[in-house]
Amino acid sequence: MNYSIATISISGTLEQKMVAISEAGFQGIEIFENDLITSKKSPTEIGRLAQSLGLKICAYQPFRDFEGLPNPLRQNAFDRAEKKFDLMQELDAELLMICSSVHPQAKAGISQISEDLHELAVRADKRNLKIAYEALSWSPIVWDYRDAWEAVRRADHQALGICLDTFHIFSRQCDLGQIANIPPEKIFLVQIADAPKLAMDPMSWSRHHRCFPGQGQLPLNSFMTLLKASGYNDLLSLEIFNDQFRSSDPFKTANDGYRSLTYLNQASEHSNNLKLDGLPEIGQPTGIEFIEFAVSDIEHVQLSNVLTGLGFTLNGLHKAKNVERWTQGQINLVFNREDGSFAHRYHDEHGLSVCAYGIAIKRPAGLVERANKLGYKIAYGDPEKDTHGLASIEGPGGPQLYFVNPDEQSPHWDREFVEQCPRPSKNYLTRVDHVATSMNFDEALQAALLYKSLFELVPTEAVNVTDPSGLVRSLVFENRSRSLALTINSTGSQETVQGRIQRTYSGSGVNHIAFETPSIFDVAESLWANSVPIMNTTDNYYEDLHSRFNINEEYLARMKKLHILYDEDEYGCFHQIYTQLIQGRFCFEIVQRDGYQGYGMPNAQLRMTMQALELDQIDAQ
Ligand code: MG
Ligand code: MG
Repeated sequence: MNYSIATISISGTLEQKMVAISEAGFQGIEIFENDLITSKKSPTEIGRLAQSLGLKICAYQPFRDFEGLPNPLRQNAFDRAEKKFDLMQELDAELLMICSSVHPQAKAGISQISEDLHELAVRADKRNLKIAYEALSWSPIVWDYRDAWEAVRRADHQALGICLDTFHIFSRQCDLGQIANIPPEKIFLVQIADAPKLAMDPMSWSRHHRCFPGQGQLPLNSFMTLLKASGYNDLLSLEIFNDQFRSSDPFKTANDGYRSLTYLNQASEHSNNLKLDGLPEIGQPTGIEFIEFAVSDIEHVQLSNVLTGLGFTLNGLHKAKNVERWTQGQINLVFNREDGSFAHRYHDEHGLSVCAYGIAIKRPAGLVERANKLGYKIAYGDPEKDTHGLASIEGPGGPQLYFVNPDEQSPHWDREFVEQCPRPSKNYLTRVDHVATSMNFDEALQAALLYKSLFELVPTEAVNVTDPSGLVRSLVFENRSRSLALTINSTGSQETVQGRIQRTYSGSGVNHIAFETPSIFDVAESLWANSVPIMNTTDNYYEDLHSRFNINEEYLARMKKLHILYDEDEYGCFHQIYTQLIQGRFCFEIVQRDGYQGYGMPNAQLRMTMQALELDQIDAQ
């Protein structure tokens, strides 16, 4: 299949958009009328530019309010169309996309609509042009693709076909069954868009919240399966109206668009079990093998105290670099203070931060191949400085994501590091439970696509958490066994905790790292004993717990004294405790799961409120 994208989908002037679209690898573009109107280049020049960039202009769009009108409006609509035909010939665009009318005087009768379409097709055909008719989901006369198809079928002209738009189809919950019965040669255009599930009117939903396949929640695989069943094997074109894409880097957005179609096209081949034909099957990543911090000397002292309180020990010193490895259970934390390293440059840009993650995957080579096919650029570190030879990609917001085979990692640690002290006899913490990152909205979309298309992680329901200064959208991506969970926190409000953290980082950054423990009270006692600052709570919180859950008073008092938070779900109960934010950036969370499968979302508002106070205190210093 060939891939195309409507120019409305990315930011920039028309010429800038076309360059970005071409560089991302697309074969075609749909020229959106307003982009042409605002271009200083003539239609002929735009046509030539497209040709020189190797882009076919697959459609010119949209032509509005054409069908179902009484005269003289009807005649006027044909005159308007003829002018667009002139323009299309200058552009060298063959197909005009018409969306169904929202004109107040348009009538819904199918016979007039098909007559109008037939006459337009005759006129188009004389000029070797074509018409694709789309059901707009908020049109009062034709909003269902099945009615659009019926009009096209009755009009019965070779220059007329249907445009299928996934957003319009799913936003009105149209039955998909008919798609497989449309003759493939009558499907002139397929427009693909995903979207989050939102309860709002289709027009606002469509114009602001469309996103690339993999970033939303529409069942696009079912659509693709039926589309392919019809015999259609031609062009897939992205048509995305999205507020973030309009303001973000057009090259990055175009790249994400191309990989989202690669992913969708392959995933739909085996939509039921996600066995991806063409994209190598990798199995999901199994966890986080290591987390690498970029730190200064002073921050290193501060962090060492917290880590000691958490029960970590300094396990190894790098043989050649100013790098340390701290361990506990299966957890590896790396502290990088090496001059001239990636971590050093990362620290210059973001300050104290996590600059890299080791993603555990049984077959890193498969993941490399898959990343290549999806257009994620693989790096192998600095051959002079890095002896680990691990492949990595740049993760959303900037940190490196290394692909690590956990079975081969021990010899690597032994080879690179001199062991310092033996592992502690008592491990409080066993593994990394989840990592939450604060991102802006467009990075959140990039992350969603990466986690889904490359790592095959599955999103849980998005939750809006109330922060004292705004809403924060929180979305967790998990593997099937939940041994790997990555949370994306994004916000439109600069003054939320997440917004303030992003300001401190000058960009996105880690928000909290959660470790699992079988004994939360022991960890909490150790933190208090080592004077590690613990996140505050409120008396009212424990009063509320008392009313919601069957917890005895003595136990509740113990939790309250240690600042342990609590939740339950249908699978079990959950305890968690947070350290205070370190430098107003991130904190550590300790969780004890006794069957519980969530992430303590009911406690998130308390955390945001307490962290807002912590940030106020830091600001006041
Ligand atoms: Mg459309
Ligand atoms: Mg958490």
